[in-house]
Amino acid sequence: MSRIASILLPLPLSEAFDYSEPEGMDLHVGDQVAAPLGSRLVHGVVAALRDADGGNRPLKPVDARIDAPPLPPNALEFIQWAARYAVSDPGQPLAMALRGARAPKAKPAKVIEITGLTPAKLTAARAQVLAVAPQGFASSADLARAAGVSPGVIKGLIEEGVLALRLIEADPRFPEPDLALAGPELNVSQAAAATELKTMMAAGGFNVALLDGITGSGKTEVYLEAVHAALAADPDAQVLVLLPEIALTQAVIARFEARFAAAPGEWHSDIAPPQRRKVWDGVATGLCRIVVGARSALFLPFRKLTLVIVDEEHDTSYKQEDGFIYQARDLAVARAKIEAASVILASATPSLESLRNAETGRYRWLRLTARHGVARLPDIQLVDMRASPPASGFWLSPPLVEALKATYAAGEQSLLFLNRRGYAPLVLCKACGERMTAPDTDSWLVEHRYSGRLVCHLTGFSMPKPAACPHCGALDSLVSIGPGVERVEEEAKALFPEARIAVFSSDTLWDAREARNLIAAMEEGQLDILVATQAAAKGHNFPNLTLVGVVDADLGLRGGDLRAAERTYQLLAQATGRAGRKDRPGRALLQTYAPEHAVMQALQAQDRDAFTTAELHERDMAGLPPFGRLAALIISGPDPMALEAFVQILAQAAPNADGVQVYGPADAPLGLVRGRRRKRFLVRADRTVDLSAYLAAWRARARPPAAIRLAIDVDPYSFL
Ligand SMILES: [Zn+2]
Repeated sequence: MSRIASILLPLPLSEAFDYSEPEGMDLHVGDQVAAPLGSRLVHGVVAALRDADGGNRPLKPVDARIDAPPLPPNALEFIQWAARYAVSDPGQPLAMALRGARAPKAKPAKVIEITGLTPAKLTAARAQVLAVAPQGFASSADLARAAGVSPGVIKGLIEEGVLALRLIEADPRFPEPDLALAGPELNVSQAAAATELKTMMAAGGFNVALLDGITGSGKTEVYLEAVHAALAADPDAQVLVLLPEIALTQAVIARFEARFAAAPGEWHSDIAPPQRRKVWDGVATGLCRIVVGARSALFLPFRKLTLVIVDEEHDTSYKQEDGFIYQARDLAVARAKIEAASVILASATPSLESLRNAETGRYRWLRLTARHGVARLPDIQLVDMRASPPASGFWLSPPLVEALKATYAAGEQSLLFLNRRGYAPLVLCKACGERMTAPDTDSWLVEHRYSGRLVCHLTGFSMPKPAACPHCGALDSLVSIGPGVERVEEEAKALFPEARIAVFSSDTLWDAREARNLIAAMEEGQLDILVATQAAAKGHNFPNLTLVGVVDADLGLRGGDLRAAERTYQLLAQATGRAGRKDRPGRALLQTYAPEHAVMQALQAQDRDAFTTAELHERDMAGLPPFGRLAALIISGPDPMALEAFVQILAQAAPNADGVQVYGPADAPLGLVRGRRRKRFLVRADRTVDLSAYLAAWRARARPPAAIRLAIDVDPYSFL
């Protein structure tokens, strides 16, 4: 009997399409296939197979099975689960899952080899060629150059069959982790945590542990022991380690290489396509046992995933905000559940969601208290900017300047932290008051002095800084308002003309290598002052750093979104945690206009539990995450009238459900982006409500017209 194959395509389609299975193709669920769609062939995956019942309308046949590893059933289940959760078409997560499968394979390497045939005539030139050929050359020209002969000599030897060009396929294998190597000696606190993780993993099945340890407490050593246990327990076991930033991968990969004498598979957007294909195939075939990567590594086709580690689990970079909108930490837990695997969430400042799960016993809570080695926590001092203001037009207060002087004089390093890129966050005309914005967009243009341009960080628009105000035409009337990292660097250079000062920010570093070089220079003590955005607050270890100055500690609190206080606390705790990591005491100065704020008080007292308790209480009272659930609907379109009409239809269509409140429609805080007006609904639901099902039902009742886009963001992190 013939069969029908349901094929999932990586396209915005709400369901799988049916095709007939050609005679003898013998498809299996998970197989990668080419299937006709309209006039073209599309690369898809077999989601289901069933017997044809005879009465069906004729179906197009599957064109071919693609010679590539199939998607394992768990990976397929995860993709479908993720789509339902995010209220998205399954094609979106499938496209992410197939990104590596469609990358080109590495080209086979060429090498000219000696075949063993004896040349008819052995001239001096030929002898010279045969002497150097074993070194391995990829072309006749290279070999001729190395032998100091003309290319004709090589040609002759190839024609005689003495030399031959051979193609060597790229090796699909990965180095096998050496499990016999001993790990580093753990302190009491680390050893206890490692033992509990091993106990949890030995029990088998789905389990989550929160590895909660202050900065410098040695979390990585602990989870490396868990990785060792997972690999040792099962020769087929695979481990996934997620990191929030590409900049952190090299450091973590080096730790794995040191521990297991084998480099893990690396996965993020900077990986070259052939390498990406190798990792994808290796994960699907089981040859690659450890993957270290960014959030999209979650969609790799693991065959036997037994341990997932989410490092810096609180980091908001785990939230993908465009395309397929998802929170990688939450999806990592979901994937582990499907795989019946263990999860380790590691952080010095865990998210309130994870802390709540730990408090209620859903997650095991492993607290590392001892700081590794002899390092001590820094002293944290609040600088009240109302009492000690900087001079007009400057941003560093007298107490911070004094601390910088003392640190520089002692030959130690300082980090000035400001989470704002560029030179100035706002440019306005002092003649007419015009604020410079991107075309058809509400967000301000940020001045960048390095590039001499005004840049919109939201849309990417940029323009040279004009000589005259585009609004009133006044010359030299544009003034820069407020500080960015480039401006703080300028001030630091004026204060310390002899000091070695650099900026660490995504605009001033061209690529990951440049970022690594700057981090290395800081580690090796080649810099005195580093001015940095949040990128440098994460995970790096600067042994000679003893002072952290936070230029604007209030910055995050002004955002006005749900997680503003939490994020500010995490960021500042990470930034101040950088100081004094080896044997030197460190200190941190936080410039603030609100020293009485709960976040500032908790930071100064280094009392995370007090902060967590207060913040969780407020969330509980409001029914907000982690006590309730949130989703945002962003509706955008070029025509205000049509947008308003659809938004009203959508408002009418909202289903009534117990435990669900719908707020809006309202103008989104950024009401105009790239000429599209934006409206927003916020949905709050009790934890017991199936929020995804509610949103899917709502959307099904009001499909937007062509020019209007409706984006659903489950568990929003950005409130723009
Ligand atoms: Zn003007």
